[in-house]
Amino acid sequence: MQGYESIIGLETHIQLNTKTKIFCSCKADSWMDPPNTNICPVCTGLPGVLPVLNKEVVDKAILLSLAMHVDAVQPISYFARKNYFYPDLPKGYQISQYDEPLARGGYMDIAMPDGSTRIVMIHKLHIEEDAGKTVHQDDGRMIDFNRCGIPLVEMVTGPDLRSADEAAQYLIRLRQLLRWLGISEADMERGQLRCDANVSIRLLGETDLNPKTEIKNVNSIENVRSAIQAEIDRQIREVQAGNEIQAWTLNWDEDSQILSKMRSKETEADYRYFREPDLLPIHVSEAWLRELGTRLPELPLERRERFMQEYRLPMYDAEILTEERSLSEYFEETVSVSDGDPKVISNWLMNDVLRLIRERNLNAGQLKLQPRHLAAIIHMVESKEITNSTGKDLLEKVEETGQNPERLVEEEGLGKVSDEETLRALVKEILAANPEQVATYQGGKTTLIGWFVGQVMRQTQGQADAQLSRKILEELLNE
Ligand SMILES: [Zn+2]
Repeated sequence: MQGYESIIGLETHIQLNTKTKIFCSCKADSWMDPPNTNICPVCTGLPGVLPVLNKEVVDKAILLSLAMHVDAVQPISYFARKNYFYPDLPKGYQISQYDEPLARGGYMDIAMPDGSTRIVMIHKLHIEEDAGKTVHQDDGRMIDFNRCGIPLVEMVTGPDLRSADEAAQYLIRLRQLLRWLGISEADMERGQLRCDANVSIRLLGETDLNPKTEIKNVNSIENVRSAIQAEIDRQIREVQAGNEIQAWTLNWDEDSQILSKMRSKETEADYRYFREPDLLPIHVSEAWLRELGTRLPELPLERRERFMQEYRLPMYDAEILTEERSLSEYFEETVSVSDGDPKVISNWLMNDVLRLIRERNLNAGQLKLQPRHLAAIIHMVESKEITNSTGKDLLEKVEETGQNPERLVEEEGLGKVSDEETLRALVKEILAANPEQVATYQGGKTTLIGWFVGQVMRQTQGQADAQLSRKILEELLNE
């Protein structure tokens, strides 16, 4: 893209994972439920009922605000009605926040794949209710109100992202953070994290912002990347052809990978906002904020940094171990109950344990294989009580049975080191460590073989197969 840079801002809608909806006691999560089964007079907008705010929604939105380092969670914020007519919006308005949102002025540190960090400003963060769903079927349009009243947080970034890849990276990191905080499942395919992208271009070196377009309805991170790239390319072609960019709203068609114009963009005046008369303002006290502050965990990037410092892990390891919160906790707990090298523990986790986790579609916190089990297995391998491959088999066995690995080794006789490859490696080590004895043996004093076998036995706490050890020793000594 010679000569141009792209300016991208993202507007995300985050579905909070509360038990109930934002203004009624209907179940919030309707994934896979039949249409119109989690509804009531409040969320379907029948006359004569009043909304009641769910405190858990505010808790989770404040937790996110704190993680975004906002300047301030507003002591008082207000709900507003956003008026528009659409079949899946039974009230004719959406309860949202407008001029006095929950929080303003934060930022998020985005770790980029090359190890650098980019700061993305968060202009404001507010809470609102979701609308229903219109489902297109052969014989017409069907409305499902289950989604009405599911709590959302809307978060708008500054125009701080400079490429489709950076926008994708922002979403990857936001998804990680939301799951880390435990406030949203953040699955884009399920609409739990939605993203609209504002895109404009300008000549490199310019500082003014040009008219932007907004891309709607993109439902995976890969599609966000493709749609933004397609729009950047389109805008450059338009400008180079002497045309002006119009402030359109664009729709991304996932199957054909093509953008099409939905409508000219609405302005905020079209929504005729006014204060919601049926709800009190949200008052956030100092005490409430303090209480939530104590619930804010160490954030992924901070933990990644600490793992590098405290455990001397390479960034590659620290990155993988902090991708998901329960994995990072699993690592630290294993280190704390083990006498082993953190790097060795990290290797076991990144290779074998992570494979176990993925194969079973679990997270680290759900494994039957506990950190103390893993520590014991690593200890047995490191002290050569069992072979490396026995150790790997044990991971599976413990995960299946939940049994203590030491007991499994004893009961199943796994401790005997009879694996030829392991013994051969150990014999090589012993020979290398005792050059004098090797020279004496090779000089003719072959009775020394007994001494060498004794060394193998000592190193394996008597678990080695003596006959096999002798055979390997003779073979290597007579080479
Ligand atoms: Zn309801």
